Amino acid sequence: PQTPSQAGAAVKAADRAHVFHSWSAQELIDPLAVAGAEGSYFWDYDGNRYLDFTSGLVFANIGYQHPKVVAAIQEQAGKLATFAPAFALEARSEAARLVAERTPGDLDKIFFTNGGAEAVENAVRMARLHTGRHKVLSAYRSYHGATSTAINVTGDPRRWPSDNGSAGVVHFWAPFLYRSPFHAETEEQECQRALQHLEDTIAFEGPATIAAIILETVPGTAGIMVPPPGYLAGVREICDRYGIVFVLDEVMAGFGRTGTWFAAEHFDVVPDLMTFAKGVNSGYVPLGGVAISGAIAETFARRPYPGGLTYSGHPLACAAAVATIGVMAEEGVVEHAAHIGATVLGPGLHELAGRHPSVGEVRGLGAFWAVELVRDRETREPLVPYNAAGDANAPMAAFAAAAKKHGLWPFVNMNRTHVVPPCTISEAEAKEGLAALDEALSVADEHTV
Ligand code: PLP
Repeated sequence: PQTPSQAGAAVKAADRAHVFHSWSAQELIDPLAVAGAEGSYFWDYDGNRYLDFTSGLVFANIGYQHPKVVAAIQEQAGKLATFAPAFALEARSEAARLVAERTPGDLDKIFFTNGGAEAVENAVRMARLHTGRHKVLSAYRSYHGATSTAINVTGDPRRWPSDNGSAGVVHFWAPFLYRSPFHAETEEQECQRALQHLEDTIAFEGPATIAAIILETVPGTAGIMVPPPGYLAGVREICDRYGIVFVLDEVMAGFGRTGTWFAAEHFDVVPDLMTFAKGVNSGYVPLGGVAISGAIAETFARRPYPGGLTYSGHPLACAAAVATIGVMAEEGVVEHAAHIGATVLGPGLHELAGRHPSVGEVRGLGAFWAVELVRDRETREPLVPYNAAGDANAPMAAFAAAAKKHGLWPFVNMNRTHVVPPCTISEAEAKEGLAALDEALSVADEHTV
């Protein structure tokens, strides 16, 4: 019989021989073989256990292996494991109803996809057909997915190799006071100048050519920049004035992450289309979707919508969504995310910022926090250059290795670590993670000037 370590080695060997991984130089990666996960933790075959401050890729909002969601998937598999999209199915109908009940305004029709990128693809398609226009405006410092349109609207270096000049995408700067593109010193200035910059971009691109403006409600992977008060309402007003469809991407920020069902609630704004995925069923089965306003749904009331997916509204994924939303409602997961952010994560991270010179800024809300690591607090020079690789990225690699040594699996992007644990994380677990972060930040401090 195999020992656990031998079993792990076999998993690793087959992975290295045959699995082609995302975003990676295949020979330069060393994926950890994972034996299991529960709640806020996962573990390997050698008995190492990690507190997951990443929620996977920020999707496991209710944590791993929630028994009610696992049971619902098993039950659905026994009842009807799969079926084609053109039929009315219990799990799909119920998932659509539960999502539509929670989306803001009149976003009452749900088009299901298998994930976030497909949701963005379809939202852009809907906006183009609804307006008869082609261009899409999106923000630098954003991530919207890796399929053709989604990667083109993305505003980070992952777009560069896939940039398609004919995609009709124009990027603009959204507000980010700490690294203000507008040399602003206050949130009010940042908000006002960002809105003026968007107006100017529209004027010079031609308002009648622009189908959509797409924004993450709170940009996620790009740095968890909570928009200043008034910004999203200002974008809404601009969209209304020019007949532009306003798309909010809540793939990462939605389903409890920010301490509300959707982040749009914080800003009292209703988009025309809203994309979601990840937290909708905590990633237990792939699922995403677009929530559609009455006016856009009306465009396709008597004219066929020219888009579809074999697995749109897959019963296993939808049953997982029904169970996940049920668990979130019963267990007060959304309220818990708000509470843990306000009482433990936020204060704890600010306390660390006070003691560690490598911390330039802490920002976020709910279970959605970014820690901006810097070489120099005065100049705000990032701990590693933008898009650093190899040796240039060594300080961030050392930070991540130190966190893992202390039992914490950190989310790392560019010069930032994000604190994005399951929204169900307990107070004791959150404190355990902050203590490990304290140790890892001491390693980052060694790289400050
Ligand atoms: N939109 C946002 C805001 C995201 O964070 C992501 C993924 O991280 C996506 C879209 C793409 O989702 P997926 O990877 O499920 O295609």
